[in-house]
Amino acid sequence: MVAHRDFDRSARARKRTRPRRQAARRGRNSQQRKGDQALSAILRPMAKHSIVELIRRKRDGGELSPDELAWIIKTFTAGEIKKYQMSALLMAILFRGMTDSELGAWTEAMLHSGEVVDLSTVTMPKIDKHSTGGVGDKVSIPLAPIVAACGVAVPMMSGRGLGHTGGTLDKLESIPGFFTNIPPEEFAGGLIKHQLVLAGQTETLVPADKEIYALRDASGTVPSIPLIASSIMSKKLAEDLDGLVLDVKVGSGAFMKTVEEATELAETMAAIGRGHGTATVAHLTAMDQPLGNKIGNTLEIEESIEILRGGGPHDMIEITRTLAVEMLLLAGVAHDADAAISRVRHVVNTGQALQKFRDVVEAQGGDPAIVDGTRELATAPHRHTLRARSNGYVRQCDALAVGMATVRLGGGRVAADDVIDPTVGVVLAAKVGDQVKEGDELATIHYSTAEALASALPLLEQAWSISPDRVTVPPLLISRIGG
Ligand code: URA
Repeated sequence: MVAHRDFDRSARARKRTRPRRQAARRGRNSQQRKGDQALSAILRPMAKHSIVELIRRKRDGGELSPDELAWIIKTFTAGEIKKYQMSALLMAILFRGMTDSELGAWTEAMLHSGEVVDLSTVTMPKIDKHSTGGVGDKVSIPLAPIVAACGVAVPMMSGRGLGHTGGTLDKLESIPGFFTNIPPEEFAGGLIKHQLVLAGQTETLVPADKEIYALRDASGTVPSIPLIASSIMSKKLAEDLDGLVLDVKVGSGAFMKTVEEATELAETMAAIGRGHGTATVAHLTAMDQPLGNKIGNTLEIEESIEILRGGGPHDMIEITRTLAVEMLLLAGVAHDADAAISRVRHVVNTGQALQKFRDVVEAQGGDPAIVDGTRELATAPHRHTLRARSNGYVRQCDALAVGMATVRLGGGRVAADDVIDPTVGVVLAAKVGDQVKEGDELATIHYSTAEALASALPLLEQAWSISPDRVTVPPLLISRIGG
């Protein structure tokens, strides 16, 4: 009994004393925690800024300093700013925009978030070109060897196609054996030897952009001019360039649908280039209909080689020549536009530009017989002809519809890891302003499966519109910015 009483008493006592002991222990623990926190605050470097305070300031229309922006990019790249905090900041930037000073500092911080190409051993002027992307835009492929054949180093780093726009890398990789994964430390050697490197973006260059772009995609913050401009320019400026020519596409098949938006983007990018000390010139060019006549990866390599042989469609020739002239002028290898045009004509007419492309294809593992014309690129197994349903003039050949149809044929990607069929695509026979009769060919579709054709056909049937009245072809070159 006693034992029970004792037990009960001691149990009651334990019950009574437990909260007191627990409270005492909690007190000790909390004192210890506070001590630990104080100690770690002494040992750990203090956070230089508060991300929440910076987000609030941007949200409320305030300006962030270069030091604060550099800290944000550095700390985010190190994984110490949460993705939801960066997404909130991106949304604040989308609504509030960025001042010139903020944009310059943000872009510099992005470009220094990883490795930067070192071309200090390359003595030639180093000039690259960037296009904001369109349908049938294969200009980089003939342009780069033409400019390199004129004595300019072209460290061309390109991307893959995503959505309805094609990518230079996918087109180049449709040449059997051609590789584009060239590490940045091999750029200088390639440029000294061939004046041209045709490479893909590497993991180590501008890692902040990769992370931020993924957040923008997932948070509805892609369509912000400062974010687009800094994303593009940080990657281009990391190439260690002396000059950059931008082709900003405008129209249904472009990222920018209006001249106003495209002008703002071009001016913003040119200002970033200037601020960095890299001469930057931009051309706004039309992208309401596809560029050239061939859309699809191997088809676009064929058309690029036609341009290098001195042929090809007139719109491709016009844009390639215009951008080549700008690159030669930025490089200082031609004193005026006329001299630059004759230099471009000379390297094309004498076969030097084609030879340059052949050399680089061979150096990067590709089959040079494709360039020589002694071997054909792979072709799709089937053809389908699309015909005009009335007499008249082509008023529209919608770039977006043709681009989306090419994706449905398997020639482009919807998701970044989709595998593409390089052989499929569309060859245009009638473009804006052309006169057609009912039953005339509008395009030939190159396809691999009946399902893919069935999926692409409705888009292509809507892509053309024919007017009974003569149609004036709108200008291809819309305006020039910078320089
Ligand atoms: N291309 C880029 O590289 N970044 C953008 O934000 C948009 C297009």
